[in-house]
Amino acid sequence: MKYYSTNKNAPQVGLQEAVVKGLAPDNGLYMPEMIKKLPQSFFDNIGNMSFQEIAYTVADAFFGEDIEAGTLKSIVYDTLNFDTPVVHVKDNIYSLELFHGPTLAFKDVGGRFMARLLGYFIKKQGQKDVKVLVATSGDTGSAVANGFLGVGGIHVYVLYPKGKVSQIQECQFTTLGRNITAIEIDGTFDDCQALVKTAFLDDELNRKLNLTSANSINVARFLPQAFYYFHAYAQLAKLGKARNIVFSVPSGNFGNITAGLIAKRMGLPVKRFIAANNSNDIFYKYLQTGEYDPRPSVQTIANAMDVGNPSNFVRVLDLYNKSLDEIKKDISGKWYSDDNIKKTVKNTYDGTGYLLDPHGACGYQALKDELQSDETGVFLETAHPAKFLETVEGITGKPVAIPGKLQAFMKGEKQSIDMGKEFAGFKQFLLK
Ligand SMILES: *Cc1c(COP(=O)(O)O)cnc(C)c1O
Repeated sequence: MKYYSTNKNAPQVGLQEAVVKGLAPDNGLYMPEMIKKLPQSFFDNIGNMSFQEIAYTVADAFFGEDIEAGTLKSIVYDTLNFDTPVVHVKDNIYSLELFHGPTLAFKDVGGRFMARLLGYFIKKQGQKDVKVLVATSGDTGSAVANGFLGVGGIHVYVLYPKGKVSQIQECQFTTLGRNITAIEIDGTFDDCQALVKTAFLDDELNRKLNLTSANSINVARFLPQAFYYFHAYAQLAKLGKARNIVFSVPSGNFGNITAGLIAKRMGLPVKRFIAANNSNDIFYKYLQTGEYDPRPSVQTIANAMDVGNPSNFVRVLDLYNKSLDEIKKDISGKWYSDDNIKKTVKNTYDGTGYLLDPHGACGYQALKDELQSDETGVFLETAHPAKFLETVEGITGKPVAIPGKLQAFMKGEKQSIDMGKEFAGFKQFLLK
């Protein structure tokens, strides 16, 4: 399969180059040249298939031409060593729980898949010493670091802003050791991202090192997120609730929801999507006015969605040939202030016993506000509430049980390297 750039100003490339490069040379995002429709027989039988079997069928439609079947199957099966269950919350609303992976957020799916795929390509090429750079404001660093932990030939550098990620998030990428190095930057998330971007533009670094990025625009992180939309459908089909499904997706960079739109293109029977935002309402405004007006992000309690210029917006435009009318047929928008999010977490917990995290809360509330009686609503519960311990405990006034996996991270010893935000120091460090 070939991948083209959304800017249409760069040559098409094969899967390997799209994965290793991440971003196209014209600064566009790679898209698969074809989105295959899956046969009706697959959907008729999907209720009898395991998550891994379903995911392999979806993966084969994209990657089957480029990776031999046995290898692709083991990459998919290794990636999904955890479930994504659909759990009933209230009336016709269900939670698609994406937090049962090693770092308790949906990014585990893309992070683990990309790590395995890149590891495979590097081995095939006989390449050594590939350096993966990733800037994080929290969840991405842990999913990517844990995905790559122990993968031969690859060293991961996680750059994060000092004092600006939660303690729980920090321990998920600073305690790993082995082929993972955490770098604590005396600056903001934007400074971290700037260091990574500058490194990719630096001639000397590119000549001397094999550098790769693992941010969410990479097709190997983005496309596997389609897997769990199919698995959710399968579970609802078994319950006899698969008619008029509405997916409500807590959105920041819009990678997760775009993978859902691709699932729909592959034939998944979904009626429509809701993009649920926090106060960073750029997409909501776009749907209202047709004007895309990115602005600096504002800080909220759903911090993984604090994005002022969603990187996957161009993929949404590309999928719908830039037609606002076509986009509006499939996607509506909602946004919630911190106060709204807090009310939703509190009322849902008091009323149903279900504890939402601040991101999932946006998805749930959007369904409460918009769902019609003949529709089945599924919101993506993108992280475990314990990842946002102080926030959630502050809202409910009750202690949150911390899952064993998270406790294990918290027992590890923090190892990180302090660094300033000047590029020269970072460059010297990489060259050492
Ligand atoms: C990354 C993240 C999001 C946003 O996902 P996008 O694909 O960037 O839209 C939402 N919730 C949580 C918990 C996240 O970590």
